Amino acid sequence: MSRGILFIISAPSGTGKSSLIQEILKLKSLYNSQVSISHTTRIIRPGELHGKHYYFVSKKEFQRMIKQDSFLEYATVFNNYYGTSRQFIEKMLSSGIDIFLDIDWQGAKQIRYKMPESKSIFLLPPSKDILYKRLKKRGQDSETVIAKRMEKAVDEMQHYSEYDYLIINDDFKKSLDNLKTIIFAEHLCLIHQKNKFHVLISNLLQR
Ligand code: 5GP
Repeated sequence: MSRGILFIISAPSGTGKSSLIQEILKLKSLYNSQVSISHTTRIIRPGELHGKHYYFVSKKEFQRMIKQDSFLEYATVFNNYYGTSRQFIEKMLSSGIDIFLDIDWQGAKQIRYKMPESKSIFLLPPSKDILYKRLKKRGQDSETVIAKRMEKAVDEMQHYSEYDYLIINDDFKKSLDNLKTIIFAEHLCLIHQKNKFHVLISNLLQR
């Protein structure tokens, strides 16, 4: 069985990253894929569920996990810890399941270093105005928090050029098609095809 592919997806909040990932998971008929559920120390928002959106843990618990080397990567974002479970990723990839990581640029940098075979995609909003409107529409944060998130978004966007692929999310369907194209193309890469079809290939090459 060939290993799954690790896809890193980063974007400032409000770019539509989560909705795109949710749609991509529906491609299961073609490729078995899962989204990694991160651990975080941030406060749970209305509508969020422990074990579905995040594993919400205390700072003490998170620090204990860091000491135990439980994270493939972790970072501080908006003064809270966020981290990706090493065990989960390894288990999924070795079972041939693709993994999508919705993480920030700091985490992406760590993963790229540890797993250079991973593929990273950056999403940009079509304009600052639209980003602001999307953040406001969520209605979950105060004006001060939104202003801070806008500032953070500009910080995050500085890192777009560290990624393998860039998508401008001006149209959901178009972005979804672009994302699918990236996934399909990556599966057609020689290294994956070679593993998947090794029996066929060795038969074909026999004289
Ligand atoms: P939010 O609190 O809005 O869900 O996420 C804030 C930011 O943290 C987003 O940019 C998201 O991609 C990032 N993030 C979520 N989980 C992780 C993680 O496990 N590691 C890292 N490095 N960033 C994460």
